Amino acid sequence: MVRYEYRCPTSGPWDVAIPMGAAEAMRPCPHCGQMSPRRWTAPLLLRANRRLTGARLREEASRDAPEVTAAVPAGVRRSRPAPDPRQAGLPRP
Ligand SMILES: [Zn+2]
Repeated sequence: MVRYEYRCPTSGPWDVAIPMGAAEAMRPCPHCGQMSPRRWTAPLLLRANRRLTGARLREEASRDAPEVTAAVPAGVRRSRPAPDPRQAGLPRP
């Protein structure tokens, strides 16, 4: 599915997701039914969600250069794992 953008003379721009190559030059507006001409836009460049784009960029950057933590964050307590009672009877070095 590809998003194609149309512009209604009354309601303004709107888009529709249809199979690639199925976009007509004119489509009826979903709000008022008036025939709207297709607008030629770069695909998905104007509709990118900033938060989603930022998450994708961070995920891609972490593949090659992951952020390294040098210290335990403030407010986090270190806890040791509970000792295994089966090791109590073992000889000590
Ligand atoms: Zn309209």
